[in-house]
Formats: sequence, structure tokens, C-alpha cells
Amino acid sequence: MSLAELIGNTRIKATLASYLRNNRVPSSLIFTGSDPYHQLLFALNFAKAALCQNQTNDSCDHCPHCLAVDRGLFPDVQILEPDGQFYRKNQLDELIASACRRPLRAQKRFFIMKDAQRLNENSANSFLKTLEEPLPTNVFILLTANLAQILPTIQSRCQILKFLPLANHEVRLELQRRGVDPEKARLLAFFNADDMKNVAGTDWPELEEKRQAMLFILDRLIRQSQVEDILLDLYDRSRSRESFIAYFREMVNLISILLRDIMVLMVDAESGTLINSDYKEKLMELAALTNIDKIFFLIRKMEFLLRDIQRNLNARVLILEFINSYTPQGSAGAPPAAHSARNARPLGGGQANG
Ligand SMILES: [Zn+2]
Repeated sequence: MSLAELIGNTRIKATLASYLRNNRVPSSLIFTGSDPYHQLLFALNFAKAALCQNQTNDSCDHCPHCLAVDRGLFPDVQILEPDGQFYRKNQLDELIASACRRPLRAQKRFFIMKDAQRLNENSANSFLKTLEEPLPTNVFILLTANLAQILPTIQSRCQILKFLPLANHEVRLELQRRGVDPEKARLLAFFNADDMKNVAGTDWPELEEKRQAMLFILDRLIRQSQVEDILLDLYDRSRSRESFIAYFREMVNLISILLRDIMVLMVDAESGTLINSDYKEKLMELAALTNIDKIFFLIRKMEFLLRDIQRNLNARVLILEFINSYTPQGSAGAPPAAHSARNARPLGGGQANG
């Protein structure tokens, strides 16, 4: 992958490209942002573009230098990470020693330091001198998710580039680029939009399991069957009150999105704007069993229930009240289904709490 092909943070890409074009690569840089993997990707591809033998200000991805950088085998690109909680003094001594030598194969030598906030004052002192009096051949790129934790003496010697989190469509493209099927990539990007701190951390089987569980719960809610069992079961098997609340919050969120799709289908069965388009058939079935008023009522009730549980009231009593309040008087609901409530598992499969 070339620098130009990196997804997201176009302004930073333009800055890095201009360093190369003008032959003015700073000797020390800090890349900061919420996704360390994304910053590492930029650092490596920037180094590769700078070291490419074709010297077109981007990587060709075919020359021996580019291929070696991609394989992590190029001697003039070193990636360092803290040994334990902090960088150790001997790690920095080694770094400083190699920073005193000429590059082995290329014109420049890149040192990429992960988690640079873990350079403490003890280990950083000798390193500071290296940053202060840089050899023109050395480029240090310090990566961090916490700029504020980087020693000010280090910050002041570096060009700081602040990365933005990827936008939803960029996450989707990034996942597709990594070989995720486009439809899965779309759903992963959508459901992880709020906390897409780390694109690499997204996990399709986990999301799919959650969506399946929520569809099952929604089915029970709409059919007003076994809801009490399901919610109490979830509560009893949560590891703690906090984990139940976290799960319930996610549940309200996911179910709201499923309900949103049901409302879309009520208005236009052929709509192409479903979020959970892969569940269309099942959602159509549920749409036929409910109406928009009931859906709004259900969402509101779930939000109230979440709010009250968070207020530290007795969750078990609240769940029972919730069931009673939304079940219309005189409606017996559907007969109990053969499915067990245990199909809906709390995250992490926790044990009963107190
Ligand atoms: Zn090349």
C-alpha cells in the first residue's frame, strides 16, 4: 500500500507527502490520535515512501526496499515498544547507539516508537539529547494515544500531527481493504461508529452474535412472550450490576436500530435504506405484528427502564414493572415459544450476581 492509498486523515497525508516532495522530512514527529494501529500504518507507509528506491515521493511497493519494509525486515526501519510498563534504560541506550550510526541500506533511518507516553523521565533524559542534536539521516516517529502524557521536553522537539478518528465510511473502506466482505464491513462500521477507537479490534462474530440475540429479544418483546424470563435471566446471569447495565444499554441501542428498520419497512417494504438489510425477512414478519405507536412506546419504556436501573433501584422489581406496564391489560400475549430464553446470552457469559 502506498501513502496515497491510506484511508482517512487526508490532511495528514498531504502534510507527509509535502515533506517528501520538498525533501524536508522533520527529524522527529509525534503521531497522536485514538487509534494507535492507524497511526502505525501511517508511520510505516510514510517510512516506506521515503525509502523507496524509485524515489517518486511515494512507495512503488515493488522495489527491494518497499518489499522489505512491508515484511518488517528492512534494517533502516526499526519499530520499538516499551518492555513492560515503561521503556527501559537499556532499550534507549541501544536506540541511541544505533541512532549514532549511518543508515545501513538507505538514505534515511526511521525509528518508530509505539506508546511513546511510556517514556518516563528516567529513560527519556539521554534520549532527549538525541532528539536535540539529530543526525540528518535519522527520523523518529513517536506514536501515542495520549499526547498530554508525553513529556513536554519531548513534545517541544517534535512536529506534532494530530490524527482524527476515521469517519464511518472510512472505517467501512478500511475494513474492506483488509478483506472484510462489503456487507459485513458496512454493518461493522455502523455498529461500532461510536467507539471505533481501533478498527483492527472490530470483530464480526461478536457483532453477529449480539445482533442475533437482540433480534431474538425483540421478537419476544413484540410477541409479548417470555419477555420477563429473558430479562430476569439476563439480569441473574450478569456478572455484576454494572455489566448488566452495560449490556442493557447496548441492548436498547441495538433494539432501537432494529425497530427503526421495522418502521422503515412499514412505510416502504421495498426500501433500500435498511441498516440490518440481511434480516429483512424476519423484520418484515415482525412489522406485520406491530404498529408505529407500539414501537415508540416500547423504545420509550426501555429507555425509562435503563434510566431507573442506572439510578440504583432494584433491577428485578423494575423489570417486572416494565413487563406489566407495557403488556396491555387483558392481552395474554402469544403462547410461550419453544425457544429457550437462554438463547440470549449476556456478554461474556457471566455467572449469577447477587
Ligand atoms: Zn519502492
